[in-house]
Amino acid sequence: MIKNIKGTKDILPNETDLWQYVELKIHHFFKKYGYKEIRTPSFEDSALFHRSIGEETDIVSKEMYSWIDQGGKSLTLKPEVTASVVRAFNQHNLGHENKINKLYYIDSLFRRERPQKGRYRQFQQFGIETMGSDRPEQDAEIIAMAHNLYKFLKIDGIVIKLNSIGSSDSRIKYKKALGDYLKKYENDLSDLSKKRLQTNPLRILDTKINSEIDIIKQAPKITDYLDSEDKQHYDKVREYLNELEIKFIEDPLLVRGLDYYSRTVFEIHSDSLGSQNALCGGGRYDCLIEELGGKSTPAIGFAAGIERLILALDKEKHDYMQNPYIYFVALGEKAIKCSLKIIDDLRMKNDLAVVTDSLNRNLKAQMKEANKLNVSYSIILGENELKDNKLIIKNMSTGNQEEIAIDELSFFFKNNIK
Ligand code: AMP
Repeated sequence: MIKNIKGTKDILPNETDLWQYVELKIHHFFKKYGYKEIRTPSFEDSALFHRSIGEETDIVSKEMYSWIDQGGKSLTLKPEVTASVVRAFNQHNLGHENKINKLYYIDSLFRRERPQKGRYRQFQQFGIETMGSDRPEQDAEIIAMAHNLYKFLKIDGIVIKLNSIGSSDSRIKYKKALGDYLKKYENDLSDLSKKRLQTNPLRILDTKINSEIDIIKQAPKITDYLDSEDKQHYDKVREYLNELEIKFIEDPLLVRGLDYYSRTVFEIHSDSLGSQNALCGGGRYDCLIEELGGKSTPAIGFAAGIERLILALDKEKHDYMQNPYIYFVALGEKAIKCSLKIIDDLRMKNDLAVVTDSLNRNLKAQMKEANKLNVSYSIILGENELKDNKLIIKNMSTGNQEEIAIDELSFFFKNNIK
C-alpha cells in the first residue's frame, strides 16, 4: 500500500469540522480590520526565495523543495508566503492602486524540516501583510491583531516576544560588533556557526546548541546599536501596545530566521505546546519590496501555523461540529421513491442538511446511524405513514415524536428552525 510522505498529514473527516471552523474564524477576524484575502500560486521561480529569504537561512540552505521543470526552469514549492505576496504586489502594481494594502492569506507551505509533533513538511499558515505604512501604529495594529486572534479563539497562555533589529545601517554596525565578539569564541562554535560568522553572524543568534546559547547570552545586544529613529519607532510601538494593554516581553536576542526583517520583530509562543511552541512570528520588512524590484514601500506582516493553533485550542470551548440537521428514514420501495422529492425539497427549498440511507438498512440500524450523526430531527416514512400521506418526525434531543402530513413538512421546519 502506498502511504503518505513523511512529514505530511491527512486531515481526516473527523477533524475537518474543526479546521473549517478555525478557517472561517480567521476569515471573519481579519475582515474586522479591513483586510482582504490574497491567494498566490503554490510554486514560484526559485530565485524569488533565494533573493528574499536569504541564502544563509535554514529554509533556503536546506529545506526548500526545488526542482528543475521540463522547461529547464528552477521552481520551488512555497516555503513561506511573504515573498510571494510581495512578488504579486510588485507585479500587479497594487501600491499604485491603493496607498495602503492590507492583505491576508491562508495557505499551504512546504519545508523539508525534521518532522515531529507541531512540525511538518507540509503545513498551513495564515498571515497578514500590510504594505504602505512605516508608522509605529501599524506595527501595534499588527501585533494586536495576532494577539487578539488568539484571544478570539480563547487560547490562553500566550507570550509575546518583541524586539527591534533596527534599520539596515544599524544592523551593519551591530553585525560588526557581534562578529568581533563571536570571533573570540570561534573555536567553540559549530561548523555551521563558523560559516555563519563569515556570512551572517546574526543567524548564530538563532542557535539551538546549549554551549552556543551560553556564549550568546553575553554578546552585544542589537538594541544598543539602534539609531535615534529606530529607537523612537520602537518606543512608540511599545507605548501603543501598553495603551492597548497588550503584555509583551522584550527579547534583545530575537532576530527571526529570515533575512528581510528590519525594525520591529515579534513572536508569539504558547505555554501549552511542547518544544514546537512558536505559534506566530512576524516583523517589518521595509526594504524587501524594493529589493524584489518594486517601488520602495515599507511593510510589515506576520505568519502563524494552523496545526499549532489547533493543538493549542481548547476544543471544549468551541461549538465547531457541523452535524446534519435531519436524518430521513424511508422504509420499503414505495417510501424510498416518495422520499426522493421530499428530501430534495428539504435541501433545496428549506436549505437544510439532510442525510438518508443508501444501504436499505432496517429502522433500528438507521436510527442508530441518526444518533451517531447527532442530527436534530429524524423523519420516518414507512408503508403505513405513506398510505395516510403522513410522516413521523422525532425531535432527537427531547425524544418527542409526532405525525404530520407530508404537505406540512416544509412549514414545520420553517417554524422549528432555531
Ligand atoms: P515562520 O514562517 O518560520 O516564521 O513560521 C511562522 C509560524 O508557522 C510558526 O510560528 C509556526 O506556528 C508555523 N510553522 C513554521 N514551520 C512549521 C512547520 N514545519 N510545521 C508546522 N508549523 C510550522
